[in-house]
Amino acid sequence: MTDGKKLKILYVASEVSPFAKTGGLADVAGSLPRSLALMGHDVRVVMPRYKSISCRFNTIYDFPVMISGRKEAAIIREHRINPDSSDRRTMPVYFVDNYQYFERNNLYCYFDEVERFAFFCRAVIEMLPGIEFQPDLIHCNDWQTGPIPVLLREQYFKNPFYREMGNLFTVHNLYYQGNYPKDCLRLLGLSDAYYHPEKLEFYGDISFLKAGLVYADIINTVSRTYAKEIQTPLYGERMDGLLRKRSGDLYGIVNGIDYNEFDPGQDNLIAQNYDCNSVELKVRNKYALQKAMNLPAGDRPLLAIVSRLVDQKGLDLLVKIYDLLMSADIQVVVLGSGDQYYESFFRDMAARHPGKTAVHIGFNAPLAQQIYAGADMFLMPSRFEPCGLGQLISLRYGTIPIVRATGGLADTIRDYDPGTCTGNGFTFSDYRSEDLLAAIERALNIYRGRPELWRQLVRAAMSEDFSWSASAREYVKLYHIVKDVRKNCVK
Ligand code: ADP
Repeated sequence: MTDGKKLKILYVASEVSPFAKTGGLADVAGSLPRSLALMGHDVRVVMPRYKSISCRFNTIYDFPVMISGRKEAAIIREHRINPDSSDRRTMPVYFVDNYQYFERNNLYCYFDEVERFAFFCRAVIEMLPGIEFQPDLIHCNDWQTGPIPVLLREQYFKNPFYREMGNLFTVHNLYYQGNYPKDCLRLLGLSDAYYHPEKLEFYGDISFLKAGLVYADIINTVSRTYAKEIQTPLYGERMDGLLRKRSGDLYGIVNGIDYNEFDPGQDNLIAQNYDCNSVELKVRNKYALQKAMNLPAGDRPLLAIVSRLVDQKGLDLLVKIYDLLMSADIQVVVLGSGDQYYESFFRDMAARHPGKTAVHIGFNAPLAQQIYAGADMFLMPSRFEPCGLGQLISLRYGTIPIVRATGGLADTIRDYDPGTCTGNGFTFSDYRSEDLLAAIERALNIYRGRPELWRQLVRAAMSEDFSWSASAREYVKLYHIVKDVRKNCVK
């Protein structure tokens, strides 16, 4: 294992951009490991090989994985990416392949989800000797990887290859827990003794998320405020007691975004490139977006939503005031997919307010980029938000976020004060439609009444630095803490 400051890290996630993405986890898993690699650490990424992944890879080897007393083949494929185009060093991304589990049209939501990810977790641990990689630590992310810490501690500890391997478990969203019936313990090769409140038992089920939270050396989440919030019953999703118990091992590190991928100065998906010194060019993207979305071209304020359409995102606040909002001279563009209720709601609004509301239901990364570049304001009134990337991408494109001050939104967006010209967006605290409306009105008043101030605000937003550099350094500090904790455990 590495003794010096350079670390060997295995980064495990169920989705990694650009290979497979349904939400923010993929963005983080696609960009944090690259930043770490650029800092000189030996980082390797591993994820399932879904059917949609079509990049070139080499097949390294295959081996049997025991699942419920049965053997299932894990095939390890390797692809290499170049974290820095000016450098020839590459970073491996491993795909765990199994035709039965992963050769399917979607990433998630299958009847045998628990078995798919139990298989994945064991395969990840067991592939390591075969690829000759003995990391200092395994960095696990969200419930799909929750079994790794418990398997390492309880089943692989006796093997010297694994004994000193630490693990960090990052919660990107506590709401998704991977809770399954008790008999799923057998998929992990764990006895009924693990159906215990101090172990994996969770309100009559077993929980993969809880497995990670209980057994990881260190846990963290993706903003400081969310790390505090989840220790309260309101945000704790019934895990708050456990999180309070582990509060000494619980950290919050805000996510960054990849400033090369999200760069209005270079982005070839948008109509007009611009930067902080040429914000007057941004409006051309608005005209292009209006055209693409069949909205009349013009200078009226354009508000946008790019989001999973689920309760978490605070969309019910918008539902209550939507018609009122539409009485103002504004346009709204919505890109998203999710709950039927919200999909139908926004489709209905587009039909009821033609020329003012345009909706695209579905997942469309290029359109998302065009919206970030073309809109004036970005709405994120989330009920809870572990970190949120939409507001960070918006800032980068000079699109002013209007957010509820919760979780990572509270940590990244500061309310604008026209008196002192400080702040980078508009915020409200209480979960109330009136307060959302008031925040939107404050933004509209400055946009319409004080265009010079607005331009300044856009420039200020674009000058913020939410690249990975600071947060990646925080992760390195945390990795060293993980190493120390593990060292003390094996003493
Ligand atoms: P979450 O992870 O809860 O979905 P985040 O704000 O952390 O929310 O990250 C969402 C990411 O997914 C952002 O990069 C956002 O632009 C992207 N995204 C969300 N919905 C869509 C969509 N329908 N089409 C394209 N990109 C989307």
